[in-house]
Amino acid sequence: MTEMPADLHVHSTFSDGTDSPEEIVELASKIKLKTFALTDHDTVDGIDAAQKRGAELMVEVIPGIEFTCEVPRAEVHILGYFIDHKSPELAPVLTKIQTDRVARIYKIVEKLNKLGVGISADDVFAISGKKAPGRPHVARALIKKGFVSGFKEAFDRFLEFNGPAYVGHYKLTPAEAIKLIRQVNGVASYAHPAISNRDNLIPGMAAEGLRGIEAYYPGYESQFTEHYVTLARKYGLLTTGGTDYHGKDSGREMTLGDITVTDELVEKLRNEHLRGN
Ligand code: AMP
Ligand code: FE
Ligand code: FE
Ligand code: ZN
Repeated sequence: MTEMPADLHVHSTFSDGTDSPEEIVELASKIKLKTFALTDHDTVDGIDAAQKRGAELMVEVIPGIEFTCEVPRAEVHILGYFIDHKSPELAPVLTKIQTDRVARIYKIVEKLNKLGVGISADDVFAISGKKAPGRPHVARALIKKGFVSGFKEAFDRFLEFNGPAYVGHYKLTPAEAIKLIRQVNGVASYAHPAISNRDNLIPGMAAEGLRGIEAYYPGYESQFTEHYVTLARKYGLLTTGGTDYHGKDSGREMTLGDITVTDELVEKLRNEHLRGN
């Protein structure tokens, strides 16, 4: 780890993570992680609580978000850093996405029921609450009810993109997400690009105002990182990174702070934000 590292990809209970914002800050403090970005899926509702606890424990919480976007046949996730999370321009869009995320749970459950899997929407909401439910909450309900043995089986058999119980929800296009992030003074980065496998989108997104590529990410072979560092250089983008931490009980091996970027990179992102990119 660098001297004062930062983990720039973290989820809390406000989306599909299993640690509360306060618990994440406390863990960061314990492992001496000075900075992290809270990047919940399509919501900023955990940021105030994280920053409040962060101020007490001297952990900097960068206000962030991860937008779920879609292009034909693939999901593309766009991270926003240093966003003005209280901006009135943000709230209506996020409310629209989250309202449709709730409606979608009923549709996923209907598909599961037709496949002979007897769970109810309330089984899912009991785990997620009704604000920002997602597929991992459905997976946890399936595990709890004994229909699958774990996350992998839940996604492989039912929930993966275009799987038998997959249902989409209202999403921004990558261009819309980048535009909105810029409107609220944020800095946009292309999350886990190897998962989407749409490198051809990078030049267009850079033209729309994308400022970074997430080149450091769990499971990336060094060739992936090298590949994205090279592409970032080619298009004049910064290289961001983080663990995509989803909490102690998320069933993922990667823990907070296992992948970090330097202070220098954080300062570059901050400068882009201050400059109004
Ligand atoms: P959603 O935003 O509701 O469509 O759910 C997407 C989230 O599901 C991602 O952000 C991950 O947290 C999780 N996810 C997606 N694919 C998998 C997988 N194969 N195994 C476990 N979790 C996954
Ligand atoms: Fe997630
Ligand atoms: Fe993601
Ligand atoms: Zn994520």
